[in-house]
Amino acid sequence: MATNTSQGWKGELRYDEPMAEHTSWRTGGSARCFFQPVDVDDLCAFLAVLDSDEPLLWLGLGSNLLVRDGGFPGTVIGTFGALSMTEWLAGDVLRAGSGVTCSKVARMSAKAGVTGVEFLAGIPGTIGGALAMNAGAFGGETWSQVESVETVDRRGILHTRHPDEYRVGYRTVQGPSDEWFVSARLRLVQGDVQAAQANIRELLARRNATQPTQQYSCGSVFRNPPGDHAARLIECAGLKGARIGGARVSEKHANFIINTGSATAADIETLIHQVQGTVEQQYSIRLEPEVRIAGNPAVGSGHG
Ligand SMILES: Cc1cc2nc3c(=O)[nH]c(=O)nc-3n(C[C@H](O)[C@H](O)[C@H](O)COP(=O)(O)OP(=O)(O)OC[C@H]3O[C@@H](n4cnc5c(N)ncnc54)[C@H](O)[C@@H]3O)c2cc1C
Repeated sequence: MATNTSQGWKGELRYDEPMAEHTSWRTGGSARCFFQPVDVDDLCAFLAVLDSDEPLLWLGLGSNLLVRDGGFPGTVIGTFGALSMTEWLAGDVLRAGSGVTCSKVARMSAKAGVTGVEFLAGIPGTIGGALAMNAGAFGGETWSQVESVETVDRRGILHTRHPDEYRVGYRTVQGPSDEWFVSARLRLVQGDVQAAQANIRELLARRNATQPTQQYSCGSVFRNPPGDHAARLIECAGLKGARIGGARVSEKHANFIINTGSATAADIETLIHQVQGTVEQQYSIRLEPEVRIAGNPAVGSGHG
């Protein structure tokens, strides 16, 4: 571990950090460097002195991320436990740091009697990850609530951006390049505490009934193709229970791939390709992964 007050930053810089400890699939290689800032100013100070060509990977709770077995050859910026400020602003606007969990935003909004983000309750990631993915569930989507975001660029300069500067779609968000989310202002509407809390309980119950929430996964692996469901296609293709090494297609929800304990990132990625290939062969539909894959294959693995 290193801190470097002489260069102006105070956070924690670790080397050769195992990403299996930071991702919900609990597998994958190490990051060459892992930086967790103390706060936003510290993050800006760190970025300002970083080499301009250093590969960067932003990490929330790693609940939608597969890091290949050869690891990430650059610096991972960890926001969880770091950029965790929350603040109520006038007009039922909640400002939340990118490292705040989605479930906290849902719970604190319900408690304050405002509504619109109950769907975030069961999404096991951060607000930064939800902004990057346009995470959504049960008809709700992150960007529907965004009034503005604060971003940081590679030189450590902060920007305020508005939704019209992004192309937002189903689990996709495209905005200014080489900028990452630091916080969001979410516009909510007055509601009822009891109703919002009951809604959260119901959505969590529905999730637990249909998803293998207690196992190592990244949630839905594939986006739903237009007019259909990836899980339906995977199940109809006879792939429930299919396995490669320690990776298995869930019996409970066919769009989930489970690490049964010993899966390598290569096992998971190979199973993703196998599912994709089989569904395409049988139904002429190409499933596109929703999960993000980063880093290098293990040396000599033959995976590309
Ligand atoms: C059991 C389970 C259920 C799930 N259910 C849902 C669901 O209902 N709906 C849904 O949409 N998703 C779901 N997911 C997937 C996942 O939780 C979401 O995509 C979530 O938004 C990812 O947040 P994260 O903080 O874990 O992001 P990470 O996995 O850490 O990162 C995901 C991507 O976002 C980028 N990123 C992270 N933080 C930032 C930042 N601050 N600025 C810029 N880019 C950033 C990363 O580089 C990466 O490309 C589920 C996952 C699991 C394990």
